[in-house]
Amino acid sequence: MYFVEVAVPVPLRQAFTYSCDTMPEPGCRVRVPFGPRKLVGVVLGKSASPDTINKIKPLDAVLDETPVIDGVLLTLCRWLSQYYLHPIGEVLHTVLPVLLRKGESAQAVEECWWQVEGDPHAHLTSLTRAKRQGACLQALMDGPIRDSELKTTFAPTVIKGLAEKGFIVADSRRPPLKPRMWLSHYKIATKPRPDKEQAVAITAINQSRGKFAPFLLEGVTGSGKTEVYLQAIEEVLASGQQVLILVPEIGLTPQTVSRFANRFGIDIGVLHSQLNDKDRLAVWQRAREGELGIIIGTRSAIFTPLKYPGMIIVDEEHDESYKQQDGLRYQARDLAVLRASTENVPLVLGTATPSLESLNNALSKRYGHLHLTKRAGGAVKTHQHLLDVRDQRMQFGLADGMISIMRQHLSMGNQVLVFVNRRGYAPALLCHHCGHSVDCRRCERPYTVHRSQQRLQCHHCGSVKPIPRQCPQCGENSLVTAGVGTEQIEEGLAQLFAGVKQVRIDSDSVRGKDKLQRTLDEINEQKYQLLIGTQILSKGHHFPHVTLVVVMDCDGALFSADFRASEKLAQLVTQLAGRAGRAAKPGEMWLQTHNPGHPLLQDLIHNGYHHFARQALEERKLAGMPPFQSQAVLRAEATNGAQAWDFLAQTKQILATEKVRLNGPLPCLIEKRQGRYRFMLVLQSEQRKAINTLLRMALPNISALPLATRVRWSVDVDPSDFS
Ligand code: ADP
Ligand code: ZN
Repeated sequence: MYFVEVAVPVPLRQAFTYSCDTMPEPGCRVRVPFGPRKLVGVVLGKSASPDTINKIKPLDAVLDETPVIDGVLLTLCRWLSQYYLHPIGEVLHTVLPVLLRKGESAQAVEECWWQVEGDPHAHLTSLTRAKRQGACLQALMDGPIRDSELKTTFAPTVIKGLAEKGFIVADSRRPPLKPRMWLSHYKIATKPRPDKEQAVAITAINQSRGKFAPFLLEGVTGSGKTEVYLQAIEEVLASGQQVLILVPEIGLTPQTVSRFANRFGIDIGVLHSQLNDKDRLAVWQRAREGELGIIIGTRSAIFTPLKYPGMIIVDEEHDESYKQQDGLRYQARDLAVLRASTENVPLVLGTATPSLESLNNALSKRYGHLHLTKRAGGAVKTHQHLLDVRDQRMQFGLADGMISIMRQHLSMGNQVLVFVNRRGYAPALLCHHCGHSVDCRRCERPYTVHRSQQRLQCHHCGSVKPIPRQCPQCGENSLVTAGVGTEQIEEGLAQLFAGVKQVRIDSDSVRGKDKLQRTLDEINEQKYQLLIGTQILSKGHHFPHVTLVVVMDCDGALFSADFRASEKLAQLVTQLAGRAGRAAKPGEMWLQTHNPGHPLLQDLIHNGYHHFARQALEERKLAGMPPFQSQAVLRAEATNGAQAWDFLAQTKQILATEKVRLNGPLPCLIEKRQGRYRFMLVLQSEQRKAINTLLRMALPNISALPLATRVRWSVDVDPSDFS
């Protein structure tokens, strides 16, 4: 009889021992009895013979012949569990695709394939008018093609049309996976000749093939970073190795995927949040068997198994979406570093606005540092200016001075982009008579007014309700909106610039898969002249006809309690500036502020992000903040605020030590959400290890506190935000 250690998906910080007749390999899934339930767990390894054999239960079943979690991923999982202080069973649960968590077969899933039915030549003669259908049929005459693959070339309506005529039929089968399938049709489409800086970067990355070598590719927006990725992976792919590329959000950057597909003419594995479980598993399997040469995905794609790992790229490495904000709170960029070092492959972190963490690693020579300082294709830099709005007349949140600058740009036939930080019509509804603000009762925050949908929505908890006619407090008919959101700006601009076609782009207006892409295409076809939008606009899209970018309000970030607010503002402003003035049209950017003398704004607009970031790093060093010191946060929330506070106060007593500073309990930046009061205890130290050791030793005692079962609490290592 053998004993195995199994990670079981339960919130307990330990693995469990089971007995079995034959020893399964580490990384294989097993079905185990756990209390009255049966759970799918993962074998971690052999377990030492237990003292009390009679309590050990046998495994129910071994689900895999070969490990679903390979050695590298298992190492990663153990590290995740230790570093983020998260139960190993839940870590493995997070890492596995949903269908595998449920115990489904890890063998290739059935997929829909298309093939010709009847005589294709006869069909073709009847398709002379339907050119796309004809082309599709011809493609299928060489043999059956996977549905997902066929759809990369032909629209679903074309395929459906052929199927309805009875010319093609669908059939389900398990596709045999072909390792290094891309090598049979891999070719490089025409490409631009790299400029000197690009060439230096490409060579440096290429020379590091086959070993761990992290690089920060710091290139201003539009400097050709993507082109560097494309050329740096040529040889990796040609030698039969795979490339894993992380991007912030695929829905927002569909062009990225097509650029890779078009350059190499190969099938690309795409992993994003809208994928269904079956498709996700299919990509996972094709990556694991080495069939896919390129895998592009969002945060969790860092867990994709690779048979022939060759390189890892993290695009827009500064993006906040790489940090998971619940459950296993990992930072995918950090994990990419660990993964690259475990797999012995180069890692490229690319961005125009490096996170201070990565910049610090590059400046201290832990990472290679590559620079692209010029925009590709000769486009010039966007000039940035501050607009002092003090004492200026404001209309719809725009100062008179701003409006006249906008008129100049519009009259020349150019596009103007207006950035607003808030979705919706207005951030609050106030009574003009008694001053009452209509608040979400659960969060004690003002509701955002959404006029187009005729409702109020709380942007903290998502709850909605109709817009009241009278003030709920005094009953007067004098409710007015306060502040400005995208919807209201849209209304106001329609009045100010009558006749100018405008479009709003925020997560409300571009719901739906293809809507954003369609809107972006229309913008570049110059169907609109005024673009109004939120953060979405700063994410990698290029607007060649935009010559003016207006930032409505940047004062909020200057006075935030979050020490990262200024870094985030600087990244946002710089990314926004990079959207404008491509090609032949130079661009300018204006930031409206009540604090034109603020040193941070001054530094940013006169010296650029490059300088600002180095300055900010110096300040962090003096202030003893990350990345020079490490942090962890214990958060607690409860409907009874006192309980959450007490829990953290008791925790603080357990943790008391010389080596780690403890701040709190403090209210979180969002003090109340969904009816629960929220507090935090911040741990800080020069030694990362000291925090980890302290928490690891203390967690059993913290979990044993009577309040631990009455409040919701969590540990967040390297927190990126304190909301
Ligand atoms: P980034 O990823 O830094 O935003 P891209 O790689 O998207 O930059 O490049 C911006 C634009 O410049 C793209 O249209 C790209 O095709 C073009 N480009 C990039 N490198 C070159 C080059 N060496 N010569 C000519 N055009 C280039
Ligand atoms: Zn709410």
